[in-house]
Parts: sequence; C-alpha cells; structure tokens
Amino acid sequence: MKQSGHCKLCGNHTQLVKAHIIPEFLYKELYNDNHEIQYVQPTDNTELTRTLRSGIWDSEILCKTCDGDILNARYDDYAAKAMWGYKNLNISLEGQYALEDPRIPWQVWKNLDTGRLKLFF
Ligand SMILES: [Zn+2]
Repeated sequence: MKQSGHCKLCGNHTQLVKAHIIPEFLYKELYNDNHEIQYVQPTDNTELTRTLRSGIWDSEILCKTCDGDILNARYDDYAAKAMWGYKNLNISLEGQYALEDPRIPWQVWKNLDTGRLKLFF
C-alpha cells in the first residue's frame, strides 16, 4: 500500500515510494542463484534471520521524483557504472606500484567524476 507523507529530500507532501536504503546494485554479489539474500537482524537476546528477495527499503522517506529522477538517475546509476562497468563512462583504471615497496599494487581511476561519486556516497 502506498502512503503519502513529507519527502525527506524535497520536503513536498506527496505519495512516497519504496526507496532502497542501500542501492540495489550494491547487493549484486550477495544474491544466490534464486536472487535471495540471508538477512540477519540482531535483537536483544537472539538473532532474527530472514530471506530477502531485494535489498532493504523504506517507504517513508522519499517521493518518486527524488528517489528516481534525482538519486537513482544522477548518483546511483553513475556509481553503478563506475564500480561495475567503468568502461561505459570512458573511465579507465591505471595500475601503479607503491614507490616505497613495488610489491604493493594500487590503481587510479582516470576520468572519474569524483564530485558525483562523493554525492552518491
Ligand atoms: Zn521528494
């Protein structure tokens, strides 16, 4: 059931949507073959385990415009492409080795919109 309320981003009183707390693409590696995640929620004296078919969401925080057009389209989509499909954005990874110890590799993202990625996080 959809409910209305004040969107926490734009402040408008409107219909709110199921907004993922953590973007769905970040669960990618956690799903099993049936697209299920084992979710463990610690309680006072035991742990509650349940199976989820999608990530955790909240239906009381965002309107459709803020969730879809702003957060998903501007930031989540960019972060997903940067993290999982960086070649689509003309981003490249350049391999480096630490000057102090050449056994330590690290990488630099080239052409990454760091401002946009920071806003995503
Ligand atoms: Zn809104």
